[in-house]
Amino acid sequence: MNTPGPDLDLVPKPSAVRVKGGVLRLSGPPAAESGPFAAECGVFEEQIRGCFHGGVLSPQGTNAEGGARLRCVHDGALAEEAYRLNIEDGLVTVAASSGSGAYHGLQTLRQLILSGEEKRLRSGGDVAEIPRAEIEDAPRFPWRGFMLDCSRHFFSAAFIRKIIDALSLHHINRFHWHLTDDQGWRFPVPGYPLLAETGSRRKDLRSGRSEGGFYTVQEIRDIVRFASLRHVEIVPEADLPGHTLSVLASYPALGCTGGPYEVEDRFGIFEDVLCAGNDGIFDFAAAVFGALADLFPSRRVHIGGDEVLFNRWEACPKCRKRLAETGLSSPRELQSWITSRLAAMLAERGKIPIGWDEILEDSPRFPLPEEAVIMSWRGREGGLEAARRGRRVIMSPNTEGCYLDYKHSEDPGEPGQLGISSLKAIYGMNPAGGMDGKEADLILGGQGNLWTELVYAGRIAEYMIFPRISALAEALWNPGGPAGFEDFTRRLSAHRARLDALDLLYYRGT
Ligand SMILES: [Zn+2]
Repeated sequence: MNTPGPDLDLVPKPSAVRVKGGVLRLSGPPAAESGPFAAECGVFEEQIRGCFHGGVLSPQGTNAEGGARLRCVHDGALAEEAYRLNIEDGLVTVAASSGSGAYHGLQTLRQLILSGEEKRLRSGGDVAEIPRAEIEDAPRFPWRGFMLDCSRHFFSAAFIRKIIDALSLHHINRFHWHLTDDQGWRFPVPGYPLLAETGSRRKDLRSGRSEGGFYTVQEIRDIVRFASLRHVEIVPEADLPGHTLSVLASYPALGCTGGPYEVEDRFGIFEDVLCAGNDGIFDFAAAVFGALADLFPSRRVHIGGDEVLFNRWEACPKCRKRLAETGLSSPRELQSWITSRLAAMLAERGKIPIGWDEILEDSPRFPLPEEAVIMSWRGREGGLEAARRGRRVIMSPNTEGCYLDYKHSEDPGEPGQLGISSLKAIYGMNPAGGMDGKEADLILGGQGNLWTELVYAGRIAEYMIFPRISALAEALWNPGGPAGFEDFTRRLSAHRARLDALDLLYYRGT
């Protein structure tokens, strides 16, 4: 591990690396020259400042030897997220056509600096050395995502920022923020103050204590800005019409029975959902979408749509009346009626809906809108069907390692639930596998999801996320397809030291 491989042990592995021999010596962040991509350089310098340990920095925090400079140049011939990184003696050049390309190039440089500084600390040298090299790189899929469930357990704004920063080190560019569920509502909606007072807290059935939390408008705006500076788009999710006990506990009139309801402390799928016969649910959805549009610049809004039970709708006079009015034959079809109305409301706000693959079970009367994006989670079948029907797809199959709440291995000592998502399985996840050209073109990419029923602390979340998300990042990034699991695990030993430097916990097996 003392000598990096010909690919410099980068994760994800870049498209092309040419090692030139010799090193660039660094005792602090290279000094950025004025030029394009100043915002990206500013974030990079902040990140790098934290890499250097123990008094090697000059008082100004610039390179004490006065040597190394960082130059960013605009190159319109490069694709949107592509970059070229050239490391010479005393000068690093990053070329890109966009801020996202420049940022990815700087994150690759950050990985090299983390490794160089780690080696210096181990060997007791004076300065960090990084190999002189030229790297050319570009992504394979535009959607490289990670989802964090902040309803089953609440995670602090500081933790969210830490994870987004670590994701961006791996060129992950989407943070899907699961903000609502039966167990808690996590963001403010004007006109619905009880979501914060009642819907954000649940009674722990074992201890009797109140559990929960709520993000303020200011915290959310800060996180959105933090992510945007790192070229990570935050896609918020408000799960409707199921998984809504936190809403019903706050506003019981929105349910079929009228309650009373409680914010759920147990985990599972519950029969109480929003009442399809109540027009108030669309007033509520309008307020929710208005709030999301105000807080999140992303064009996409995830509307959930998963795991809806229909027995309340079957028994409810208001829902039965709605069935008669709409001419639909079964309560199941009411879900596609709701989905099409929600999608139309989002379209009015210039937003595109994303839903879990259950929303594919539409009715001929209310077909799934063309623009809707399917997130395929119950295996890849939903994604294959969606692509056959011309819909765009994000692959996140729980059958192929993408569910990070599953255990790392069969070891009974490992945390996790429901199944096993091995590092090898997620590394092998090919979003467009089994598709022909036209269908494959509809695959936006893939995503790893961390549901947090059993994840009650950020430290446990880190252990579940890493390095599985590092493996997925490579599967989604590398243009020639992943380099092979053995090749990846060889580089992973160096990459683990980078995760150590960022104070992230991770699984040590393969
Ligand atoms: Zn009803």
